[in-house]
Amino acid sequence: MNPLIMPAIARERQTPSLRFMQPTLPAWEDVASLYREVYKSGLITNAELVERLESVVAERLRVKHCVAVSSCTSGLMLVFKALGIAGEVIVPSFTFSASGEALLWNGIRPVFADCEPDTWNIDPLDVARRITSRTTAILGVHIHGNPADTESLTRIASRSDLKLIFDSAHAFGSTQQGKPIGTFGDAEVFSLSPTKLLVAGEGGLVTTDDSFLARRLRAARNYGDLGGYDPELQGLNARMSEFNAALAISGMPLLKKKIIRHNEIAQMYTRLLSDLPGITFQHVRGDNVSTYKDFSLHIVPNRKLSSDRLCYLLHKRSVPTQRYYYPPLHQQKIFSSYHHSTDLPLPVTEHVSEGVVNLPIYESLSDQTITAICTEIRDIVLNDHQQGFEL
Ligand SMILES: *Cc1c(COP(=O)(O)O)cnc(C)c1O
Repeated sequence: MNPLIMPAIARERQTPSLRFMQPTLPAWEDVASLYREVYKSGLITNAELVERLESVVAERLRVKHCVAVSSCTSGLMLVFKALGIAGEVIVPSFTFSASGEALLWNGIRPVFADCEPDTWNIDPLDVARRITSRTTAILGVHIHGNPADTESLTRIASRSDLKLIFDSAHAFGSTQQGKPIGTFGDAEVFSLSPTKLLVAGEGGLVTTDDSFLARRLRAARNYGDLGGYDPELQGLNARMSEFNAALAISGMPLLKKKIIRHNEIAQMYTRLLSDLPGITFQHVRGDNVSTYKDFSLHIVPNRKLSSDRLCYLLHKRSVPTQRYYYPPLHQQKIFSSYHHSTDLPLPVTEHVSEGVVNLPIYESLSDQTITAICTEIRDIVLNDHQQGFEL
């Protein structure tokens, strides 16, 4: 441990330790002043504030419809249900499990596609290779907020007459060539859970220009019922409560600063670590803007140092890490039976997944702490020949 560097981490540790994740919430007074009126009225779910959130988001992203739901997972489940999608859907293996679970809930077979070696996003060329007569849709994901190649995916989807949905859980505030994420494909679904940048406690937002789909989603989130007690489609209770909407509305003004700070932190990590041998980072293309919901380095494992071991050594030095996304979906218990040994392999996904180490990234992290974390990483990587194997 470097005694000159540790004080910054130690300071953060006093309260109570350096955390991997720490959401910045809006001022309680802002939330309370919105919620108080609603609370008095007694209409505390799926009412005025939810509608206000929906119209603020639709206006901001310049989409026709925004439908608020209880989570990104339920939003994805209902989008597939409302579009009547069955058969096979192509989804990246390098993503969070919820992307694939939304398919399983609909009895859809997930077909796992490889990711691109630089952006870590679903690879359109690999998607094209996996289309069969049973394929009905593509589910893209903007990994860590880095916009996926929507242009190629849109071209492939329309050429093969497939629906195109995006799991945009990480990407509220991301833009692709100046165009906001939320405007691509048949629908995009955001998450407002506490590890994302816009926090509602729990919540999801579906954005779409398809009025028919929006109407079906409004029914679907309310047991499929639009008011006639005779459901239009099989739904569930996936409504957003007014309190969650109050949090999201109050959090909206903080978003711009959060994205700027996440980008600054990502740049700092990159600058301070990029000369290290075997270490690379997720690439954001052209003038795309990522929210950097998460930041990971990628380490090519060698005889002395693997991603696992780097995490372990950082943990011993009080630096918390995660491994997003390891294992990839096709190697997870609930999904592995959908990926057969005769299927095309997923070499890039396995390579990327094997090497990822996620570092703390949130607004309240100081430059000093980032520098201290990087010093620890540098020390481990550059001295790995001295570490031995006590794991
Ligand atoms: C967080 C996350 C989800 C799930 O979001 P919830 O709102 O918690 O349901 C889905 N997909 C990805 C990629 C995520 O990171």
